[in-house]
Amino acid sequence: MAGVKIDGLEKKFGSLRVLKGIDLDIRDGEFVSFLGPSGCGKTTLLRSIAGLEEIDEGQVVLGGQPISKLPPAKRDIAMVFQNYALYPHMNVYKNLSFGLSLNGVPKAQIDERVQNAARILQITELLKRRPKQLSGGQRQRVAIGRAIVRDPKLFLLDEPLSNLDAGLRVTMRVELANLHKRLGVTMIYVTHDQVEAMTLSDRVVVLDQGKVAQFGTPLELFYAPRNLFVASFIGSPKMNFLDVSAKSSGEKELTVSAAGMSGEIKVALEGAAKDVVGPHTLGIRPDNIELVAQDEAHMNGQVLLVERLGTESQVHIKLENGQTFVAIARGTHPAATGDGVYLKFPAQHCHIFNGEGQAYPR
Ligand code: ATP
Repeated sequence: MAGVKIDGLEKKFGSLRVLKGIDLDIRDGEFVSFLGPSGCGKTTLLRSIAGLEEIDEGQVVLGGQPISKLPPAKRDIAMVFQNYALYPHMNVYKNLSFGLSLNGVPKAQIDERVQNAARILQITELLKRRPKQLSGGQRQRVAIGRAIVRDPKLFLLDEPLSNLDAGLRVTMRVELANLHKRLGVTMIYVTHDQVEAMTLSDRVVVLDQGKVAQFGTPLELFYAPRNLFVASFIGSPKMNFLDVSAKSSGEKELTVSAAGMSGEIKVALEGAAKDVVGPHTLGIRPDNIELVAQDEAHMNGQVLLVERLGTESQVHIKLENGQTFVAIARGTHPAATGDGVYLKFPAQHCHIFNGEGQAYPR
């Protein structure tokens, strides 16, 4: 079993606190992504697990064994870097076998492992070539192959697809997903690309300034973001937000209203206490806004721009309070710039966040 348990991990660079008490429990065989904006600490967390950064506090446990004090080479972890880090003067076979030779693995066994990895990655015919004779995608496969031959307990991948063009990224993404299924080994993947994280991962860790903002399945993050940060980070186009006032109305229900809003919205929320009152934020995803007739609407607005993408239209709307909302309508929406539109926010799709930006669980 090779799950990863991280307890109270702290890391500073000088006086800059980069990781602030990270706790994570990653299951054996899981594919987990670290996702977050630039500078939130993804790479530092990955490097701390690998042992490439010395941590200030806390523990990393791999397969039940504390590894924080072990040097990187003793951790049974393989890392794939963004720039591949291949040896330019060695051919592919050598690139794959070099680490094993250094560790004194017998030649016959090395050959078996290299041929096996090459077969899995379909690079057998490239074994004699040097890195500069390979395409970006082929280099990427060699870098992954170098991790596979080591048969590690854990794979760490740091933005491994970011140097590839858009088409190849998609192909390699599918290959990575298949590779994970085939090997069944625990993988941790760093990316700032939410589509990559959402499509590849069993679960995603969203990091915000050195803290875990939420750790959940891709759909949990999308449908039940725990706070404003995750709500605004996950989803494209972004969730729309509106300042509202909210108060408890009955058992597990909040009633929200806002300046310029017709009527009120009653939102059923399991996590709402009986004594809620005060300023809140309402969040609603673009595809959950309904463009309706005036008498059914919660708010009025004016069309700024319609982007027609074929299967859907993204309608940019200026509300009366000056804010811009995006609504997605299926198919080709007929609205033109300057038209008046009427927005409805269906209660079952409204996310409500308290003054601290925390969501009420549904
Ligand atoms: P990106 O997506 O841009 O790669 P990231 O989320 O991986 O970002 P990290 O590289 O982990 O972020 O960096 C987290 C913070 O730590 C940043 O503020 C960065 O400037 C700082 N940092 C990282 N490495 C060092 C270092 N060796 N010395 C000083 N500060 C560092």
